[in-house]
Amino acid sequence: MVSPQPVDVLVIGAGQAGLSAAYHLRRRGFRPAGQTDGREQYVVLDNEDGPGGAWRHRWQSLRMATVNGISDLPGRAQPDIDPCEPSSDFLTRYFGDYEEALDLHILRPVRVTAVRREDTDPRGRLHVETNAGTWATRGLINATGTWTKPFWPLYPGQASFRGRQLHVADYASAEEFRGLHVIVVGGGISAVQLLDEISHVTTTSWFTRREPVWREDEFTPEAGRDAVARVEERVRQGLPPQSVVSVTGLIWTPALRAAAARGVLERQPMFTAIEPDGVRRADGTVVRGDVILWATGFRAALDHLAPLHLRTAGGGIVMDGTGVAAEPRVHLVGYGPSSSTIGANRAGRAAVASLVKWLADDPGAAAQSRVSLR
Ligand code: FAD
Repeated sequence: MVSPQPVDVLVIGAGQAGLSAAYHLRRRGFRPAGQTDGREQYVVLDNEDGPGGAWRHRWQSLRMATVNGISDLPGRAQPDIDPCEPSSDFLTRYFGDYEEALDLHILRPVRVTAVRREDTDPRGRLHVETNAGTWATRGLINATGTWTKPFWPLYPGQASFRGRQLHVADYASAEEFRGLHVIVVGGGISAVQLLDEISHVTTTSWFTRREPVWREDEFTPEAGRDAVARVEERVRQGLPPQSVVSVTGLIWTPALRAAAARGVLERQPMFTAIEPDGVRRADGTVVRGDVILWATGFRAALDHLAPLHLRTAGGGIVMDGTGVAAEPRVHLVGYGPSSSTIGANRAGRAAVASLVKWLADDPGAAAQSRVSLR
């Protein structure tokens, strides 16, 4: 059996959060694994074919003018932006240039399948199993985002629907729905942006569980900080993080005001069942539809951490800053309050600072552990 490859800090994922972590590891003197100059070593494993994280997969009509604002990666500003360029093209290029300029050495495509404790020693190593071998790390920064875990709610009769059902993670363009009636489910930003877009080529209906909350005022930095603090409080209590919109509300843009004026944003309360040709409302009437587009959000992609048993009975993970309260070797970045590009940047820095301290508190054990693994 091949021994696990030892490393000091292993980062899973190379989206905004993972790149921020890699940047701060390099700044603090860590070297990519394999460079044998005696410094502490890191590795970043990413399951994409190239740079960009989830941005690689976002639909082409999500342009730099229609994203909500993307923070610069740490230490390197975004180049000039063409507002008409698809965000997936621009950000994939920006991330790629960043990785190269900073010599970050991302290993891809590598998919992490499981993380396990080596033994019961709380300062022992974590074994990170992948489709390309196993690593044994002293600290872990998990930056796997949410894109790979689209959330599909279950409704009676769902399997009987004769039309097409898709999640926004699989959305490509409104054109494919021309001439069809599209039922959009969900109360977030993706739902309203796609309703607007699709309604230019065909008819739509909109269903949400709750009445959406629209903000009339500008979204101020104070409101942003307040929203983050509310999500932070939830994860400190071990509750699953809420969606950003559930704390910030939906923001009126000129395009959405125009959509509302066209009657596109007339929300209906959630249907109770799905039928072969549409959806059944609580009053028994059926709305016929050819497509159901589930704009129902995503969950944190953490299945590979299941062997660590980090989740509480309530389904969340008790967090202390970016660290898992019960497992200080593991940090979650881009999770809960840091699931925005600015939050991911900050979380990467905080996780590295915390892990550096953790590693420095136990240098003897670390050296010994490294020798025994060779
Ligand atoms: P990701 O970019 O998802 O990167 C995670 C990486 O981890 C991926 O490369 C993935 O392949 C990899 N990975 C996952 N699982 C594994 C595994 N098991 N093994 C190895 N690698 C793995 N935020 C903003 O601030 N501004 C916006 O305008 C904005 N627009 C958004 C629009 C949409 C449609 C969505 C869904 C989100 C948007 N967000 C926005 C949120 C934003 O995308 C995220 O907060 C941020 O970009 C996510 O970065 P991340 O590094 O956490 O995750």
